[in-house]
Amino acid sequence: MPDLIVIGGGIHGVGVAQAAAAAGYSVLVLEQTAVAHGTSSRSSKLIHGGLRYLETGQFALVRKTLRERSLLLRNAPELVKLTPFHIPVYRETRRRPWQIRAGLSLYGLLTGLRRDALHRKIPRSRWGQLDGLETRHLQAVYQYWDAQTDDAALTRAVMHSARQLGAELACPAQFVSATPSTRGMSAAWEQDGKSVEQTCRVLINAAGPWVNMVNRRIDSQARPLAIDLVQGAHIVIDARLTQGIYYTEAVSDRRAIFTIPGFGHWHGKTLVGTTETLYRGDPEQVQPLAAEINYLQSNLRHYFPQLPHRVEDAFAGLRVLPQQTGSAFKRPRDTILVSDDNNQPRHISIYGGKLTSYRAEAQRVMRLAKHNLPDRRPRADTRFLPLPPVDN
Ligand SMILES: Cc1cc2nc3c(=O)[nH]c(=O)nc-3n(C[C@H](O)[C@H](O)[C@H](O)COP(=O)(O)OP(=O)(O)OC[C@H]3O[C@@H](n4cnc5c(N)ncnc54)[C@H](O)[C@@H]3O)c2cc1C
Repeated sequence: MPDLIVIGGGIHGVGVAQAAAAAGYSVLVLEQTAVAHGTSSRSSKLIHGGLRYLETGQFALVRKTLRERSLLLRNAPELVKLTPFHIPVYRETRRRPWQIRAGLSLYGLLTGLRRDALHRKIPRSRWGQLDGLETRHLQAVYQYWDAQTDDAALTRAVMHSARQLGAELACPAQFVSATPSTRGMSAAWEQDGKSVEQTCRVLINAAGPWVNMVNRRIDSQARPLAIDLVQGAHIVIDARLTQGIYYTEAVSDRRAIFTIPGFGHWHGKTLVGTTETLYRGDPEQVQPLAAEINYLQSNLRHYFPQLPHRVEDAFAGLRVLPQQTGSAFKRPRDTILVSDDNNQPRHISIYGGKLTSYRAEAQRVMRLAKHNLPDRRPRADTRFLPLPPVDN
C-alpha cells in the first residue's frame, strides 16, 4: 500500500511525488493521458516572481516565487534560463515610467542583491536593436531579469527525479473513484482496460482544471472550493527574437501581453500570450478562440510591425481561480489547499498555483499530509535535487 496516491501528472502532481519520495514516503502518481498533458504544457513558460502581482499587493507570493526561481536556476540550468525582459513605455501606456521604476526597484529588493535583481533603462541609441519593436511614441524601455523554461520538459524532469527517489507512475491510468477505508482512502482507477484498486493513507487531488470533476468522485468530508476556469491562449509565430522577452500592454484593454522567444521545444519560434476568457466546458476540449487569436495577432502587429504575423499554431490552457466577480487579472494567484481534516487529512486538493512555485507548494502539501503519515527516514532535500532534462 503506497503512503500517498496522487491524481494528476502536471507540475503539482509530480512536485508532490518528488517531495513525498524525498521525505521517504512511498507514492504513486496516476495520470490519465501523459505527464504534462494539461495546463503544465500550455503556460507562458515563465519562471518568474510575477512583477505585476506587486500591483495587487501579493508580496508574499512574489517573494516565494522569486526564491523558487533562484533554486530552479541552480538545479535545472539546462531547463530554466535567465532572460532579459523589456518593458517599453509609450505615450499611451497606462503605467508611467516612475511606476515601472518603482515596481522594478521593489522587485529587485525582493530578489536580493544579485545580478538578476538589477534593472536598467535602455538608451535610445539601442532601441533599433530591439527586434523591430515599434518606436513611434516610445518614451522609455526598461530591462530587468526573469527566467523562462520549457514547461512540459520541466514537468517530466521533476517526475524523473521523483522516480529516481522511488516514486511510481501509472500512465495512462484514469482515476475513477475513492472511498474512505479504515487506514486512509481506497482509490480505484482504470489501467490497460482493467479496474485497479489500492488503499493509501493520503489521496492528493492534483488534477488541475479537472480538480472538481475528480472531487465529485471522492467520498470525502472536504468541501470543494467554488472555482472559475479561465482560459489563456498563446499564438506561435515563425520568427526568432534575439534580445529577450517583451512585456507590453494590450492596445484594447491594457492587459499584460508577453512576446516570448521560444525555448526548448519552442526554440526558433515566437510565442505571444495570453488572454483571459471564462471557460465552462470539459477541460479536455479547451481550444484557442478565433477572437483570442485575433487579439494576440493585432497586438503583435501593433508592437512588432516588421515581424511575420502568420499564426503557425496556437494553444490554450486553463487557470483555476477562486470564483469571484470582476476581472480574472486581479484575482489572487496563490495555491489553495483544501483537506477533509487538517489534523488527520486523508484527502487533500490543490487549487490553482504557478508553475514557478510548484516545489514550495509540494512541501506545503507534505507538511499537511504528514499529520496522517508514519515517520519515515528522508532520502533527499528537494531544494538541492538536480533536474536534468529527460527524453519524452
Ligand atoms: C495561460 C496560462 C499561462 C500560465 N503561465 C504561467 C507562467 O508563465 N509561469 C508560471 O509559473 N505559471 C503559469 N501558469 C500557471 C501554471 O501553468 C499552472 O499553475 C500549472 O501548470 C498547473 O499545474 P497542475 O499540475 O495543477 O495542473 P495540470 O498541469 O493541468 O495537471 C493536471 C493533470 O491531471 C490529469 N488528470 C485529470 N483528471 C484525471 C483523472 N481522472 N485521472 C488521472 N489523471 C487526471 C490531467 O491529465 C493533467 O495532466 C499559467 C497558466 C495558464 C493557464
